[in-house]
Amino acid sequence: MGEFDLIRRYFQRPAAEGVEVGVGDDCAVLVPMPGARWLVSSDMLIEGRHFLSTVDPARLGHKALAVNLSDLAACGAAPRGFTLALALPRVDEAWLAGFARGLWALADASGCPLIGGDTTQGPLNICITVFGEAPAGQALLRGGARVGDEIWVSGRLGDARLALEVFRGTVATAALGGDGFETVRAAMECPTPRLALGQALRGIATSAIDVSDGLLGDLGHILAASGVGAKIDVDALPRSAVLAAQPAALQRECLLAGGDDYELVFTAPAGAQLPDVGVAVARIGVIEAEPGLRVVDARGAAVEHGLRSFDHFAS
Ligand code: ADP
Ligand code: MG
Repeated sequence: MGEFDLIRRYFQRPAAEGVEVGVGDDCAVLVPMPGARWLVSSDMLIEGRHFLSTVDPARLGHKALAVNLSDLAACGAAPRGFTLALALPRVDEAWLAGFARGLWALADASGCPLIGGDTTQGPLNICITVFGEAPAGQALLRGGARVGDEIWVSGRLGDARLALEVFRGTVATAALGGDGFETVRAAMECPTPRLALGQALRGIATSAIDVSDGLLGDLGHILAASGVGAKIDVDALPRSAVLAAQPAALQRECLLAGGDDYELVFTAPAGAQLPDVGVAVARIGVIEAEPGLRVVDARGAAVEHGLRSFDHFAS
């Protein structure tokens, strides 16, 4: 199968609504919504670094798009389309069929059509760029947190990191009980981008970010961009029953420095009416004037953790 047959078979579909020209020409042509701003973000996934070669290709297709949509969610944007730049070592039709199935399922569920891309031979590498829209002036950004705002997080944190520790061999599968490993593995391999929540938070949240590298670091980006500090309660961090059954130190590591959660962390004025889109949100702390991020427990005692968020180039 040649490059163009491959594209036609797995990645080309009739142009979707709002897409004048999709896959098949030199450029895609999108119809902008009046008064909207484009929001654009890219994320790359490299075998061995972001995923294991043994991962189910359908889950990989889902995740490659999900991590990109999560950035749109964090900014309160509505998805409009995405491009896919793909390097493949060889044409493996079973792999491609699975990958495309997972990718299209999430694309359809999110109303985010595939509008173009690039396909080349090389070490497995997946780069997606998403295009979204938000009304002018309404994108949720990192720099708007104000002293006294409350800090919230959606869903649960830490499961993806717990799964990673099992893959790394530092935690035994048996320690997670019954189907505990399958549960946290699904969190790692099939994250849910919080698109509805992000859009519903426009005009309510003062700042937002998605947790991709770990809560400490990602909330730290909000604090730095906003010129504020914060206090968070580690015991208030939402976690699964599987994680809650692990030793306290491991729980804290997964919750504070885990990463790959793709939940939204956002700030909102105290007492703000938060939208109900069917996703649980938990209040985890408060924005303070004093710079830095202070972690306390439910009794208010300082928690020493020595943890850092993920950094590809940290020595
Ligand atoms: P060009 O050489 O003009 O850049 P290509 O020959 O690389 O175009 O691609 C042909 C068409 O297929 C273009 O519309 C491009 O956007 C699309 N395309 C290529 N690879 C992919 C892919 N992996 N997924 C979706 N569309 C793709
Ligand atoms: Mg061209």
